[in-house]
Order: sequence, then C-alpha cells, then structure tokens
Amino acid sequence: MKALSLRLLGGAFLFTAAVPLFLPETATAWATIGGSLNLNQRDFRIFDNFSDSQSHNNTTEHANWPGYTEIEMACWKGGAEWGSRLFGDGSGDSTQAGVGDGKANFNFFWNGEASGIGGTNDNINSALGGSSGGVLAYTETPISDGWRIRYYEVWTWHDGPNTVTNGIDMQGVACHELGHALGLGHSNDIGATMYPSITGTGVGQRSINADDQAGLQQGIYGARDDSTLPRIADLSGSTAPGGTAVITGANYTLTANRVWFNSTTLDGGQTGGEPYEITNLDSTNGQTQISFTVPSSGIEDGGIHVRKGGSGHDRLSEGHPFAIGSVDVDSILLTGPATANSPSLITYNWTQAPPDSTWWMYYSKTLNGTTINGQPFDLGDPYFELASGTNDATGSDSVSVFVPPGVPSITVYLELRADDGQGTTFDSNALSLTIQ
Ligand SMILES: [Zn+2]
Repeated sequence: MKALSLRLLGGAFLFTAAVPLFLPETATAWATIGGSLNLNQRDFRIFDNFSDSQSHNNTTEHANWPGYTEIEMACWKGGAEWGSRLFGDGSGDSTQAGVGDGKANFNFFWNGEASGIGGTNDNINSALGGSSGGVLAYTETPISDGWRIRYYEVWTWHDGPNTVTNGIDMQGVACHELGHALGLGHSNDIGATMYPSITGTGVGQRSINADDQAGLQQGIYGARDDSTLPRIADLSGSTAPGGTAVITGANYTLTANRVWFNSTTLDGGQTGGEPYEITNLDSTNGQTQISFTVPSSGIEDGGIHVRKGGSGHDRLSEGHPFAIGSVDVDSILLTGPATANSPSLITYNWTQAPPDSTWWMYYSKTLNGTTINGQPFDLGDPYFELASGTNDATGSDSVSVFVPPGVPSITVYLELRADDGQGTTFDSNALSLTIQ
C-alpha cells in the first residue's frame, strides 16, 4: 500500500523544499503510482465525521447535485471533475466553466454516505483527528481493489460552493486525493491538480488541467475515444417510482446495457459501495436510447450512469443527475422508428403527456437545443412543425408520417411538444430518424 499526501506550503517553500522532495524523475510532468482501479471499483462515498461548521454551511441545493449539500456535495463534485464529460450540464461551481469535463476515460460513481471510515479499500472519504506537519490529507491506495482517503481535522474544511477565501477547500483537495485513488502520483506541473502542494485554500485544485488529463489517459486508462465511450445527453420520461424513464445518449450496446443508481439499500455498511443496478437493458433508436422502469425502492437521489455491455475501462458513461420524481415538464415518452425508406409510412406513438393537451411534432437537422415557450428542447433551431393534434384523456396519441419518394439520405431529429392549457409546455425525448 502507498499513502500519498497533499501539503499546504508557504509560497517561499514551493520551489525549494517541495520540489526536490516530491518530483518524479520523468520527462513528463504527470506521474503514476502503478496500477488502475477495476471497473467494479468506481464508487466513492463520504463518512461525514467532519466537525467544522464551515463544512456544513452550504445548505443550498443544486439541480445538478440532487440530494446532497454541504461537504457531501463538495466531495461529489471533486470526484465528478475526473469524468469523461460534464456532469449533467456541468453547473454548480462558479469557479470553473463546468464540473466534469476532464475528458478522461474514468468516471467515478457517487454513492453518497457511508456509516464509517471503512477499510483501506472501501473507497470512503473521512476526517481524521490530529495533524501531520503540513499535510492536509492523504490517500491509501491498494489501487486495483480500492482506496481510502483521510482529511486531517487540524485544518478548517470548507464546503464551498463558491470561492473559499480562508481555511481549506474540500472540493479542491478531494479532487487531488481522488486523483491518487485512480492511480496518479504527483505532477511537477505547478498548474496541475496533482501538484504535491497548494498555496492558499485549494480552490485552484478543483479543475483538473491538461497535464492531469494526459496522465490519466496516457499513463493509466488509455486514450479517450469519443466514438466508443458511452455518454448521456438527456434524461426524460418519468423519474417517479414505477414510471418509465428514457436515457438519450450515444454508443450504447444493442443488448446487455446496465443503469447504475446511487443505492440506498447497499451503501449502509462500510463495504457496500456497489451501485444499485438494472441489468440486461436493450438500447433502441440506433443504440442512442435506453428505457427503464424507475425502481420503487432501493435507490436514492444522486447520479445515474450507463454501463454498456462488455468489459474494459471505457464501458461506463459519465454521471447524470437523477432526482426521484423531479422531472415533470420533460415527461413525454416518444417512440418510433430510427430508420425509414423513401417512400414509406411511419408511425410515432407517445404517452405521459398532460391529459387532453395540444401537441405538436417538430423536427430539426440538429440536436443543438433551443427554447420553446420557456421549455428547453433538445432540437436545435431552426425546427419545423410536422403535425399537430390533441392528446386523449390518458395523455397519449400517435401520428403517421408519410416519407415521400425521392428524399435523399439524411438524418433528422424529432421531438414532441404538448401544452397543458394552463401555460406550461412539456416536451419528449428526442428521436433520430435516418431516411435511407
Ligand atoms: Zn497528493
């Protein structure tokens, strides 16, 4: 086992004491400690034994980090920064453009609270009484089968979420320590999160830089391949227990996909970091959509991930916020073909729209996003109306669309709008349609 620490140093020491002590003798700035985390070791949790009031004074909830505030939210964001894509829309931290665009092949899985500090491979963050010179925190890294991180209580830990001007920033230090957990050593790039010391509060460590990204990809988990890495663009449908939710994204396998949830049944103990998992899910619409029934128990607010079939480090998507029962205006469940011949007649069906509401079917050449009557849609502007009508009392309807002869090969995107008559606009998941 190796234990790697992050130190707080005065500026005068940065280039004298710190550098000769910690620099690896390599041509590159980043360094690794050897090994990588297994695909079943993606979870991370926190045991909240932090005593500082400053670690528990951010009580403002944020849609990107559902279910958690205070030092828990700060720890979660520190891990999400290493993800392959933005976590949700990346918002929630005013000090960087987006949390999670680390562009690595590694996606941590947040599994909330733990009930104790755990063993050295239980993947838990916690506070530790006492001090060790200038050491802020350290990571114990048995590596492939897990890790443990301790934060010395002699420091005053702050939960953010904005700039922290005194004490030590949990999010930034967690981001550094979690970098050790996934196999990085210390970098001699002073701008890197994995630099061995900080000056100030550690807010600067929140956002990983190009050297950190390079270390993760070149040194441990392999190059990031956008054409194979699964990703989540949107979550629609119902997130209420028993409802049907739809994940829209890319690079899913035809069969054997899994969805991971923050688990309320499995994380009570010190060795229970595993996700709550729904297995054997098929994808549809050109391997871009996965539908699933929201479990009626066993899950809690947090993030969801898609793990596509097969094995390997690049099988797990980044996380996407999942708040149980929260998605209302994005509720319509649209189904239809992914391809069509020219000419042909194709049919789209939908459910979960407001009862007796007015609907419009739109299409666009892009999924760049636009706002229609105050509601964000996946379709880009310009978009065009294909048909309109009225939903039945259950909020369902269908439409048949004639694809005329002579249409060239093209891919368009379709999305349904429904207005409830009381001023609220609802939308569906977007579907792609390729004319052959
Ligand atoms: Zn370190």
